[in-house]
Amino acid sequence: MCPFYSISQFSNIETPGYVGFANLPNQVHRKSVKKGFEFTLMVVGESGLGKSTLVNSLFLTDLYPERVIPDAIEKQKQTVKLEASTVEIEERGVKLRLTVVDTPGFGDAIDNSDSFSAILEYIDDQYERFLRDESGLNRRNIVDNRIHCCFYFISPFGHGLKPLDVEFMKQLHSKVNIVPVIAKADCLTKKEIQRLKSRIMKEIEDHGIKIYPLPDCDSDEDEDFQLQVKQLKEAVPFAVCGANTLLEVKGKKVRGRLYPWGVVEVENPDHCDFIKLRTMLITHMQDLQEVTQEVHYENYRSDRLAKGIKKPGHNKESENLIVSQNSAIITSDKDRILQEKEAELRRMQEMLAQMQAKIQAQQ
Ligand code: GDP
Repeated sequence: MCPFYSISQFSNIETPGYVGFANLPNQVHRKSVKKGFEFTLMVVGESGLGKSTLVNSLFLTDLYPERVIPDAIEKQKQTVKLEASTVEIEERGVKLRLTVVDTPGFGDAIDNSDSFSAILEYIDDQYERFLRDESGLNRRNIVDNRIHCCFYFISPFGHGLKPLDVEFMKQLHSKVNIVPVIAKADCLTKKEIQRLKSRIMKEIEDHGIKIYPLPDCDSDEDEDFQLQVKQLKEAVPFAVCGANTLLEVKGKKVRGRLYPWGVVEVENPDHCDFIKLRTMLITHMQDLQEVTQEVHYENYRSDRLAKGIKKPGHNKESENLIVSQNSAIITSDKDRILQEKEAELRRMQEMLAQMQAKIQAQQ
């Protein structure tokens, strides 16, 4: 049975200071528990949409202690820079090595056509590194830096997707698991959120964008779990808000945003989908890794092997690739010789059978 948050956990406000990945051991082998989990999350979206705040709220950590925010003039000159920050979080003896790759500068330029290339290149580079490590000698201790999930932040202020969102997701969907999120959901009313969600989902469908498909439940699955998955599926794109301040509401400490008219509680499911997003991430961490391995990485690997092109700046890797391609050629040569021998044997057996039939007829 799959692990999951119970519905009561799902609808209650989680204890501040608890992320929930302690549930991970149920998902995989005990050995992995000892070794710890590795997960890489990428966050993409225009600057100012609340990416850093959300990531810090999700993992209750400060991933960007020395962050400097450039002004408009600097932004104009800057290209998209990718910054990977790794933290090791431990919860109830379970270690998670979490890497968050931020993409500052995305969508900041006047012409954003170049915004994509640095991100796509980064994703490919991680696959390339994994491919090289896999064909190396020390295969057991590969550090997996491949992007397992990408939160794509959509602005709450538009009327749906922007051309930049459509174009980028189209280029990205065959490389990573995209999870679309509506940023700063506290800026919208419930009705507006529903309208925006439907519009975004329609546009995603119309443009043939393939976002991460939450896997269907087996019919023998626990009813609570089935309900939870249904609710998660219905919530996509997750409308979230983030905050890193703890406020006191009705005697309870909550993570929230204080406005003159009240408090938006980040972890209150009536206020936003933050808990749903976190539940989705935690309960599907293994599936996200599997889809990355079996679909996206396999696509990359077969593409690379089919092309067999020397990638600039990756001489060693290419050498490894050439070696593996050569061994593939050798294997196919062996197969051919075997097939020829089998055919010859069959011919001889047929001849023998014909001769025996003739002798019997003569007798
Ligand atoms: P990033 O550039 O995408 O990483 O955005 P930041 O996390 O730095 O946030 C930019 C600004 O938006 C900051 O002033 C945050 O306090 C604010 N902010 C972050 N999350 C939210 C949110 O959910 N709702 C609202 N209204 N503001 C937010």
